[in-house]
Amino acid sequence: MTQDWRDSVELTQQQSLVRRSIRDLCAEFGDEYWRERDRTATYPTEFVDALAEDGWLGMLVPEEYGGVGMSTSEAVVMMEEIAASGGGFAGPQSIHGGIYNSVPIVKYADEELKEDLLPRVADGDARIQAFGLTEPNAGSDSTAMETRAERDGDEYVVNGEKVWISRVEDSDYLVLMARTTPREEVEKRTRGISMILVDLDDAYGNGLEIERIPKSASRAVHSYQLYFDDLRVPARNLIGEEGRGFYQVLDGLNEERLVIAAECLGLGEVALERGIEYANEREVFGGPIGANQAVQHPLAEAYADLLAAKKVIYSAADRLDDLERTEAGAEANVAKYLAAEAAFEAADAAVQTHGGFGVAREYDVERYFREARLTRLVPVTQQLALNYLGENVLGLPRSY
Ligand SMILES: Cc1cc2nc3c(=O)[nH]c(=O)nc-3n(C[C@H](O)[C@H](O)[C@H](O)COP(=O)(O)OP(=O)(O)OC[C@H]3O[C@@H](n4cnc5c(N)ncnc54)[C@H](O)[C@@H]3O)c2cc1C
Repeated sequence: MTQDWRDSVELTQQQSLVRRSIRDLCAEFGDEYWRERDRTATYPTEFVDALAEDGWLGMLVPEEYGGVGMSTSEAVVMMEEIAASGGGFAGPQSIHGGIYNSVPIVKYADEELKEDLLPRVADGDARIQAFGLTEPNAGSDSTAMETRAERDGDEYVVNGEKVWISRVEDSDYLVLMARTTPREEVEKRTRGISMILVDLDDAYGNGLEIERIPKSASRAVHSYQLYFDDLRVPARNLIGEEGRGFYQVLDGLNEERLVIAAECLGLGEVALERGIEYANEREVFGGPIGANQAVQHPLAEAYADLLAAKKVIYSAADRLDDLERTEAGAEANVAKYLAAEAAFEAADAAVQTHGGFGVAREYDVERYFREARLTRLVPVTQQLALNYLGENVLGLPRSY
């Protein structure tokens, strides 16, 4: 997709290069491909393999470990383009974990683990697609987690449950968040949580069972309920410091949130593109429906809101290293909030513009609409993004 209206931010040379390469690769996977993956709820293996073959899963792995050594400012371009190519939210979501789960390993894992894992991630031979934080009783309130990892000699013994964990069957490893110290024994609820790498092949049948959760949006990328029953994991698989895992997650949160915002943005852009096309083509009462301002204005409003989200995303991604934590958090939460709202608005306008065909699978806008609704829920709900802004930017009291 190369419409002028999408070229609204200036890209660096490196970003332009990423955009060109990703557009070329995505051109091999058209609408029919993504429609079928959604209809049959099938993971886009061919697409992910093509990206892995070209080294994109190691885009954030430093060059010294065989990766590409890029950063968030390139990742936003990549994810926006995948979504805007027609992949929708499911497109970037199919590789999101594979790219972002290497970040805490780069930052915190010990040298032995890095040298073992990162070159294989960069080559596409090892996939760390799954990240396990959410639990049945710990969603937005993630530090309420109850899953325990108790030290027993040179192993951790894991017991508990996780829910909504994505891409587990399409991953070799899970980055698991678990309590190594019970909540009642720590001073602050953010302490006592650790990050542990689980080799999934070793785990199945040895204390880990998984169950897929049937769902309506982003159907090509599956999410699971996980049950841990005395799963033994080598203690050397601890990533970073015991008890400091939650802080390690917080450290990469803003980057990841900006990239999610870019995924929402690309989804909104493809939805808007389809709405514009149909508004120009479809004739009712002897003229194109797009000539009616009741059809035109919702599309124009969606454009304005997508543009605002895009400016925030790209400006924040370029300045991320220079921003203080709270400032970066403010920009990342504004970006995610605006992008998810704009994606929803664009998808809703595109469905309405299509009339009855708005719900026909062949026009894809119904798929974008289902996905746009999901973006208001994950990885953080819109309310929680606003809570961050209310408390940390506006200085309003915390209610929970
Ligand atoms: C498709 C999908 C994929 C996912 N993938 C992963 C994954 O790979 N790994 C992972 O760990 N998790 C994953 N999640 C989980 C996701 O991060 C959570 O669903 C999300 O954080 C919300 O938690 P919850 O569903 O428990 O909602 P809850 O926390 O139960 O919240 C319910 C509602 O109450 C609102 N609410 C709660 N507290 C407040 C408050 N203080 N102020 C205002 N509103 C409030 C929320 O905004 C929400 O609308 C995924 C979820 C989905 C749907």
